[in-house]
Amino acid sequence: MSGSRLDPWVDSYAQRTAGMQASEIRALFAVASRPEVVSLAGGMPFVQALNMEMMAATVSKLLMERGAIALQYGSGQGDVVLREQILDVMAEVKVTAHPDDIIVTTGSQMALDLVTRVFCDPGDVVLVEAPSYVGALGVFRAYECDVIHVAMDDEGLNPEALTEAIAKLGAEGRKAKMIYTIPSFHNPAGITQSQERRTRILQIAKSAGILLLEDDPYGLLGFEGEPPAAIRAQDEEGVIYLGSFSKTIASGLRVGWAVAPHGVREKLVLAAESAVLCPSNYSQLTISEYLATQPWRKQIKTYRELYRERRDALLDSLDQLMPTGTSWTKPAGGFYSWVTLPHGLDATAMLPRAVQQLVAYVPGTGFYIDGQGRQNMRLSYCYPDPERIREGVRRLAGVIEGELEIAATFGTSSALRNSSGTNVPAPDLA
Ligand code: PMP
Repeated sequence: MSGSRLDPWVDSYAQRTAGMQASEIRALFAVASRPEVVSLAGGMPFVQALNMEMMAATVSKLLMERGAIALQYGSGQGDVVLREQILDVMAEVKVTAHPDDIIVTTGSQMALDLVTRVFCDPGDVVLVEAPSYVGALGVFRAYECDVIHVAMDDEGLNPEALTEAIAKLGAEGRKAKMIYTIPSFHNPAGITQSQERRTRILQIAKSAGILLLEDDPYGLLGFEGEPPAAIRAQDEEGVIYLGSFSKTIASGLRVGWAVAPHGVREKLVLAAESAVLCPSNYSQLTISEYLATQPWRKQIKTYRELYRERRDALLDSLDQLMPTGTSWTKPAGGFYSWVTLPHGLDATAMLPRAVQQLVAYVPGTGFYIDGQGRQNMRLSYCYPDPERIREGVRRLAGVIEGELEIAATFGTSSALRNSSGTNVPAPDLA
């Protein structure tokens, strides 16, 4: 065995593990969770806004009345009552389905894994937005997919770029297996597709015969008006829709779901059974009890108002404090704004300085498979309170100004180059 002293099994790993790399977000969590750091990095829902007494009462009632079911194995597809309740939740984004076509998963993250397992062989192409959700990129990489980014504009996934990517593949005799999109309150871009844009993307996918994978964990967290109707509301056969209770109730319960065309649903259930036998009955029944007995729409409204206030704090302070040349998206819901730094600045290289100044963000490169995104960063406003957000932006603006001064003096940002002019790798923050 050659291996290494640290890991004697390294030569035995399956090839697919080459694509399994710690995300930049993971490495950051250790640093960003120190109390003195204002973290605009992680996307943790502010579950403190839940009424914990009500939650305790829900769990207690569940255990007293149905403990032997909640603590037992359940069906691979998920609890039938919960699947019916999910229909009520999805009605908010105009999705109609049969409860039979829903599969409950351990968060929508697991649904991403199952869909990819069912559809993608190594080398299969998945088209994703540029940038895209880091957790989905991790799944596609783990299944050795060929991930191709497609440009976004201020209405989301760009239809011309999508058509072009499909045509380019066609010219090479290839065809994508899936188009993965987050149409509402995008992670990390903070952009929402208009209804016209959704229709257009669906048409392109359908005429090319490519499955659309619609990921919608933030759909109910819009700050103005009605939640946007999902793409799945327009088409039952060509779209797999993923939903989640992580952001609307509690991420720690790990309950999400997929709605899939009937035949696909069967395969997903088989894949789920081989992965976990069944999703947690305890978590599912907690959600089910909560939906049946608690004012969940009111809770979502509370979350929406909380996140809107934090979004406002972020956008106001960015407006007031950011140096000229910096731009950012203005999210109408969800958790994130996507910042573009002034020309020549590098968010990855700048991060150690930011952390030193006690503010953390996620560098844009984490949201691309191919090294793009150096000039970008994702800022999350979901967790810190408005005062902390303002303080975080103040610190960040100071860091960017410092980089600009150095760039003006030396022609590039200090973090990019050391005195000998060679690239300095970002230190391991883990
Ligand atoms: N998709 C997107 C776009 C996300 O942002 C997240 C969580 N950050 C997930 C899926 C996974 O969420 P969960 O597994 O908690 O449902």
